[in-house]
Amino acid sequence: QSQEVTRVRIAPSPTGSPHVGTAYIALYNYCFAKSRGGQFVLRIEDTDQSRSKPVYEEMILNALRWTGLSWDEGPDVGGPHGPYRQSERTEIYREHLTRLLDAGHAYKCFCTPQRLEALREEQRAAGAHIGYDGLCGRLEPAEIAAREAENLPYTVRMRIPDDGVCTVQDPLRGEVEFEYRLIDHQVLMKSDGFPTYHLANVVDDHLMGITHVIRGEEWLPSLPKHILLYEYFGWQAPQVIHLPLLRNEDGSKLSKRKNPTSILYYRDLGILPKALLNFLGTMAYSQPDGAEVFSLDEMVASFDIQRMSLGGPIFTLDKLNWLNQKH
Ligand code: GLU
Repeated sequence: QSQEVTRVRIAPSPTGSPHVGTAYIALYNYCFAKSRGGQFVLRIEDTDQSRSKPVYEEMILNALRWTGLSWDEGPDVGGPHGPYRQSERTEIYREHLTRLLDAGHAYKCFCTPQRLEALREEQRAAGAHIGYDGLCGRLEPAEIAAREAENLPYTVRMRIPDDGVCTVQDPLRGEVEFEYRLIDHQVLMKSDGFPTYHLANVVDDHLMGITHVIRGEEWLPSLPKHILLYEYFGWQAPQVIHLPLLRNEDGSKLSKRKNPTSILYYRDLGILPKALLNFLGTMAYSQPDGAEVFSLDEMVASFDIQRMSLGGPIFTLDKLNWLNQKH
């Protein structure tokens, strides 16, 4: 039996007003960690230079503080580290990228946007699988050197096996399988020198000692790429759990058109943070005694991953308002 401390994280991207989905994911991470005497880390994933804004980061921090789901590392709580900000860690990602390049697990791709677009067009017209054809992955060392000498812009892509499957155990879904031939040679570093989500996320989860990743199911298709990256680095992958998405009443993904999605909207409406957490705590989970009204401490006290469910969590204002009356 390993004595390792449970460490989880949430990793919001500051690209918009703080989404209730962030509070939802944060809640389950928090409960899981706290019920095991573990730690809950906050990491700001701001590697997308064009979409990330400091004002959104500030709003996310404020929204999280308002919910009371406090993170364990960082100035707010007296710790020396965190919240971590990926834009301050680009050197770390570059070093790791070099390791992958040196080992041949990644390669420089000099293809122009025009070539990639033409390739997609061709694949679309042929009804073929859309994805990079691996052209630059087959270049000879001399051809690579020639392109480097010309100072051509490049991205870095990871190698994906041509065939075979990646099999992962997901506590909520059982065995999940992905066919490598359907997985694109993911870009790990963009031509602006910034890492993509996939590289930064895996490197950080490892370096930050994250033992369990609990995130939304929209990231499930990324899992085989992440598992491969762990293998390439020679690291043990954390256990990954994908929570069902919050949905509108018609079953569609929770969206601004059907429901306000900003945490700050509900705060300003007079919803109490404990009512919002209680509400989100019923979305993919049921209390052992079937209670509908409960506090965060109660949820932590009896938290058990086995009580989580995948069944469509429907977000309704009526239920939220009802819980708000009860608190
Ligand atoms: N930055 C990603 C997001 O905005 C994090 C996904 C993950 O938890 O791995 O949701």
